[in-house]
Amino acid sequence: MAQYVERTRDAQIAKLAVALHYQHLEPTAVLATALERMADSVSATQGAAANLDDHHHPRYTALLGYFLEGDDDEFWQAMSRGIFGFVMHGRRVVIVRNISTDPRWSGMPGLSLASGGSAIGVPLMSPEGDQLLGVVILTHPQIDYFSGGTARMLESMGAVTGAALSHALQMTALSESESAFRELAAVADAERVQLAHDEALRRDLSAMIYHDLRNPVQNIQSSLSGLARVLASLEKTVAHDLIDLAARSTQQMTRMIKALLDLERLEGGRAIIQRKPSNILDLLNDAVDLVRALIHDAEQTVKIEVDSELPRLLIDADMIQRVVVNLVENAAKHTPSGGHIRVSAHMTEEGLRIAIGDTGSGIPPGLRDRIFDKFFRVRYQNAPVGFGLGLAFCRLAVEAHGGHIWVESEVDHGSTFAFVLPVELKDAPSDSKRAPALTG
Ligand code: ADP
Repeated sequence: MAQYVERTRDAQIAKLAVALHYQHLEPTAVLATALERMADSVSATQGAAANLDDHHHPRYTALLGYFLEGDDDEFWQAMSRGIFGFVMHGRRVVIVRNISTDPRWSGMPGLSLASGGSAIGVPLMSPEGDQLLGVVILTHPQIDYFSGGTARMLESMGAVTGAALSHALQMTALSESESAFRELAAVADAERVQLAHDEALRRDLSAMIYHDLRNPVQNIQSSLSGLARVLASLEKTVAHDLIDLAARSTQQMTRMIKALLDLERLEGGRAIIQRKPSNILDLLNDAVDLVRALIHDAEQTVKIEVDSELPRLLIDADMIQRVVVNLVENAAKHTPSGGHIRVSAHMTEEGLRIAIGDTGSGIPPGLRDRIFDKFFRVRYQNAPVGFGLGLAFCRLAVEAHGGHIWVESEVDHGSTFAFVLPVELKDAPSDSKRAPALTG
């Protein structure tokens, strides 16, 4: 029985970790997802979550089952005086057995449940455990509902959320300084010469940082595969899933670092040096494999369709594969569950045309050229938001190969991102060893 409870608890924590993985490092999304999953794991229907600044003022917030009619500030201040404050100061789980009589709950505007009930407050600590990043509270209409066992599970879920929140806050601070930097650059237009010099410096510095980032990430990657090997002999547990998730995240990080390095290189006008005769079907299969878990989790299907005879092209296969991975990842991110993704490669008069089609949200006509610009993003409701670097990288990579890339799209029906690589890149007469592949 104890083992069963422990497994259920571990499964809830793993589910939360997976859900947070897809929140693309947005603090509000992390809070909302954690709140929803934590409430679901203990069948609570209402709750609130907040990230607090250094003065313990809420900065990012999420509510579940509550609708604020009045002043947001007033609500959160009352929260801080009540259970929120107790969690903040004690930095540990607080249980309110009966919210109708407990002074830590009374006086909460618009929150008293008609029939009373109980509440639990959970701290969200930084991964190092030294900083309180936020608080989650959950309420239940039943008095004395939350037990010690639930408290322990929620505390672990709070720790997982704290780590995700901490990364999300770091990424947000980073992107804020990036936009502050860009605003500064715009104001200082008159000092263009100086800026050009600074820009070159910045680029060199970034390239160095991206380069140095590769080592620790590769170390994490090899440690994870070592761990996976150690665990391989044991019965399948939640640890396998978590290691698998961590391994996928590091792979994703490696791809991002490589793309950033390539962006710096290609923008600096440097030529591609790693050209090798490459098999396009292998490249597409490998690219799709890297995104398969994301597609599977989103309950979508993917299909690869290629001509029965495809030439081998003289390309930087790693770079073009990252282009395809980016496009397939984008397709999965912007397509609702149950949708379809189609990856194809056909010879045309212009060259080899590779296309990634989806049945997703589509892109409004006025934005179709601009999405290829660096830092340009479209904000759709409910869609994850990135940094607007993926397509800029794709365009530079394809153009550096002498090709071009474009998008055809219909709002609410889907998009097809296509690029052509010129036939001059052709290496050998044909590569028809493998029949067209169909994968689902
Ligand atoms: P990011 O995904 O990091 O925001 P990208 O450069 O990859 O940056 O994409 C830029 C923007 O183009 C995204 O913000 C997204 O709104 C839009 N986009 C990209 N691919 C698709 C797609 N398949 N369907 C709908 N919109 C897309």
